[in-house]
Amino acid sequence: MTTITNHMPTAELQALDAAHHMHPFTAGAELAAKGARIITRAKGVWLTDSEGNRIIDGMAGLWCVNIGYGRKELADVAARQIEELSYYNTFFQTSHVPAIALAAKIAELAPGDLNHVFFAGSGSEANDTNIRLVRRYWEIKGQPEKRVIIARKNGYHGSTLGGGSLGGMSGIHKNGGMLAGIVHIDEPNWWDQGGDATPEAFGLARAQQLEQKILEMGVENIAAFIGEPVQGAGGVIIPPSTYWPEIQRICDKYGILLIADEVITGFGRTGNWFGSETFGIRPHIMTIAKGLSSGYMPIGGSIVCDEIANVIGGAGDFNHGYTYSGHPVAAAVALENLRIMQEEKVVEHVRDVANPYLAKKWAALTDHPLVGEAKLVGLMGSIALTPNKATRARFAGDQGRVGYACRERCFANNLVMRHVGDRMIIAPPLVITPDEIDVLIERAWKSLDECLAGLKAEGTQIAA
Ligand SMILES: *Cc1c(COP(=O)(O)O)cnc(C)c1O
Repeated sequence: MTTITNHMPTAELQALDAAHHMHPFTAGAELAAKGARIITRAKGVWLTDSEGNRIIDGMAGLWCVNIGYGRKELADVAARQIEELSYYNTFFQTSHVPAIALAAKIAELAPGDLNHVFFAGSGSEANDTNIRLVRRYWEIKGQPEKRVIIARKNGYHGSTLGGGSLGGMSGIHKNGGMLAGIVHIDEPNWWDQGGDATPEAFGLARAQQLEQKILEMGVENIAAFIGEPVQGAGGVIIPPSTYWPEIQRICDKYGILLIADEVITGFGRTGNWFGSETFGIRPHIMTIAKGLSSGYMPIGGSIVCDEIANVIGGAGDFNHGYTYSGHPVAAAVALENLRIMQEEKVVEHVRDVANPYLAKKWAALTDHPLVGEAKLVGLMGSIALTPNKATRARFAGDQGRVGYACRERCFANNLVMRHVGDRMIIAPPLVITPDEIDVLIERAWKSLDECLAGLKAEGTQIAA
């Protein structure tokens, strides 16, 4: 076989990709017919493709490249760690410096008494760990029937069987079924589902579904509630201000465990180290991954409070773990990523510079005829596309058709912006500068204009 390199013609790479590579969350045959866009290098917030185009990455990869691409410090740390200790496990009463140092650093950054880290290789794995943690906790406490986990429709918690079951996406559930003992309540998506209620009243009502579900199933059967502080893959749904305080009140009142899935919102995304700080949530467990290593290495974990760690630790073996739990190279790289974030004050940059600068321009997108609402927290944002802002109407035909068309225009204009249904979403690297934000916004406007022109050409009415 010939060596496959960056210098091969794009069409040849695409043909090999189509012949041998199965892509996640992708219609294989459709992609094979079209050919994947092949990314060859990246630096800062900029991707380069095999045709030499420079693309601004409004999604930080998959919400993960918080410090931007191509930092040499991380390459150096990885190389050093591979030479010193390329691998060792942490199963049978052994440990190693990178896992120790990273766990201690995470405990220092995490709020409250979240002082213990169980490492995984990804966010999905960490959520699988969480299912075992909360069920095991109640079993040791003498309440083994407390097994049900309440989650939310259109939540995303990964795509392993456990993570995908916690998530509330029917498309994933249909792919092979789901675990027993997980139930879903409605999401706090006011734009789509709020009807005539104010966002505040709607947020409260959606949170109160948790209480109704607990009473319906019996609190003696409920182990935990899990939610993302801000739904990411569900479309960057920033909940009304009334939502999380009510969820917290209900979890406290009934003594059920609260899991905050911080895989996206952790490590600076919302302008604090954790989204739980931004929204005033006091979780017993946090799920982390993505920004933990800025995506340079696959690593995730569960940050666990004193009570749960002590109870589980005091009751014999916890029969769970991954070969790569706390992998030394991944841990060393994550630690270096966190060092850079702290020394370069990346979270402060989001809070004091990038968010305020982007917020004005993002809000101004509602001046565009297609944009009904524009939401932003820290550096995660979404806009709702609609044919009628006043009635928050949906487009005729399949949901997501217009969002997909808009994403295609963005990609053609060298901007990565994703669509979820007819919402467009961004989550750029946290180090994005005001000048780069200008480029992102300029390309977004151009793409929206082209999308609008396309809709008009096909005869779709857009309310003035
Ligand atoms: C991405 C994501 C996950 C899954 O993480 P993987 O590393 O892809 O397994 C879990 N929860 C949330 C909120 C995510 O955004």
